Amino acid sequence: MKTAVVTGGSGFLGSHLCDRLIEEGMRVICIDNLLTGNIRNIEHLFGNENFSFIKHDVTNFIHVPGKIDYVLHFASPASPIDYLQLPIQTLKVGSLGTHKALGLAKEKNAVFLLASTSEVYGDPEIHPQREDYWGNVNPIGPRGVYDEAKRFAEAITMAYHRYHGVDTKIVRIFNTYGPRMRLNDGRALPAFMSQALKNEDMTVFGDGSQTRSFCYVSDLIDGIFRLLISDENNPVNIGNPEEITINQMAEEIKNITDSRSRIVYKELPVDDPKVRQPDISRAKALLDWTPNVSRQEGLKITLDYFKEILDLK
Ligand code: UDP
Repeated sequence: MKTAVVTGGSGFLGSHLCDRLIEEGMRVICIDNLLTGNIRNIEHLFGNENFSFIKHDVTNFIHVPGKIDYVLHFASPASPIDYLQLPIQTLKVGSLGTHKALGLAKEKNAVFLLASTSEVYGDPEIHPQREDYWGNVNPIGPRGVYDEAKRFAEAITMAYHRYHGVDTKIVRIFNTYGPRMRLNDGRALPAFMSQALKNEDMTVFGDGSQTRSFCYVSDLIDGIFRLLISDENNPVNIGNPEEITINQMAEEIKNITDSRSRIVYKELPVDDPKVRQPDISRAKALLDWTPNVSRQEGLKITLDYFKEILDLK
């Protein structure tokens, strides 16, 4: 039986990853300090003998006894509002936390997988984004704490691969949505859903012409699992290449909720990327992966989840 450590395992993506690894027959040790994660996301796993939880801040030395086969580093604040409110913690978990998680992988001779991000491309001048694009990041802007921490995380991951021979993987995660997102994490999709369900104004930032490409969580987790068990050590984009404007997303959510909300326009946050779309040729070629949950399907499942959270069912 293989054992996997998932840092940030009680967060949105981390918890879905714990589920998938357990389904794959692994023993899973979830480490989280619950800063932005939530025990509710992993509650259903507590009765499972193959699951354990350690409350710990991974910017400090990580001690886990016994054999470990995989270390997946998913701990980090991850929404623009989170890293505006938690800038130092964001920098620390991306730098010190990645160092500690890599140290654990090296000690245990485990495969290491880093949750990186499309934010390494910043406000991109190349579109769609391919993995060989180096990005356009403002290091001193409000998003710099996340972008630069993840860029550092990629650099130290490659250094551990090259100099210590650790078998490392880097996934660059594009916008993802689904159940267990926090309703108030400030991201467009939960914000629009909660506003639409409550018939409150839906707040589009800027003129809404900026684009994003939204991937349903099960597709993303599948891509990550394939990368984990692959031989690939260079970064791989995982995301859904279907690109839409934020206006379009607001309209779609207003329609599926039958909402009476008005769409209102607010100031665009500093350094908000104007476009974002993954080029997934590498994921297709190397991992034989493509997303297959349609937005219509994914939005419906997510909406049901938020209705339940808001007690509207
Ligand atoms: N956005 C918006 N209204 C909101 C929250 C976000 O219009 O209430 C915009 C945001 O400015 C960005 C896009 O939606 O252009 C996606 O933002 P999100 O916070 O989901 O993540 P990002 O892709 O910027 O990391």
